[in-house]
Amino acid sequence: MDAEHMGDDLAEVLLTEEDIHGRLEELAEEVWADYHDKDVLLVGVLKGAIMVMADFMRALPGSAEVDWMAVSSYGSGTKSSGVVRILKDLDTDITDRHVLIVEDIIDSGLTLSWIRTNLLSRGPASLEICTLLRKPTAAKVEIDTRYVGFDIPEAFVVGYGLDYDEKYRNLRVIGTLAPHVYS
Ligand code: 5GP
Ligand code: MG
Ligand code: MG
Repeated sequence: MDAEHMGDDLAEVLLTEEDIHGRLEELAEEVWADYHDKDVLLVGVLKGAIMVMADFMRALPGSAEVDWMAVSSYGSGTKSSGVVRILKDLDTDITDRHVLIVEDIIDSGLTLSWIRTNLLSRGPASLEICTLLRKPTAAKVEIDTRYVGFDIPEAFVVGYGLDYDEKYRNLRVIGTLAPHVYS
C-alpha cells in the first residue's frame, strides 16, 4: 500500500521506502563486518519486524539463518503494557550461537529488555540488537543496542510492518496517523 492509498489517515511521512532501504543496506554492511566469520542467527520479533527482516537479511552479503519469536506487549492501543508473554518461541536452540535480534522499533524498551534477558538465560555465544527505529524514550532503559537505523521523534508510527490495531502494516512508508484515526 502506498501513501496515496491512505486517504486522510496519514498525517506525515517520516521515512520513505528509499530512506528505509538505503539505511538497511548500510546496517547490513556494518553487521556483516562484525559477523562475516560467525554463524549468525537472526531473530525477528513478530509481527512488526517482518519487513525489516525481509529487507535487512537480503541486504546481507552472505548467508544467515533466521528464526522468529512472538510475544505480547502492546494490546490494541498505543501504550506498552509492560506485560510480556511468549506466544511463539524460537524453533532453534541458541546455546553457543551468535544471536542478532532484528527489531522494528524500540519505544519504552520493556519488551526488548525482557526478550534479551530471556534469550541470555539460554546461553548464547553472543547477543546483540539491531533495530530500524528508536524513540527518545528508549534512553530511559539500559539496553545496549549496537545497530540503530533511525532515531525518530516521540510519536506513534505505522507502516513497514508497524501496525495500529493490526492495520497499516502493509504501508510501504513509515508515518504518523491523523488524530481522527484514534477516535
Ligand atoms: P516497547 O516495549 O519498546 O515500548 O515497544 C514494544 C513494541 O511495541 C514494538 O516492538 C512495537 O511492536 C510496538 N511499538 C512501539 N512503538 C510503536 C509505534 O510507534 N508504532 C507502532 N505501530 N508500534 C510500536
Ligand atoms: Mg517489535
Ligand atoms: Mg503492534
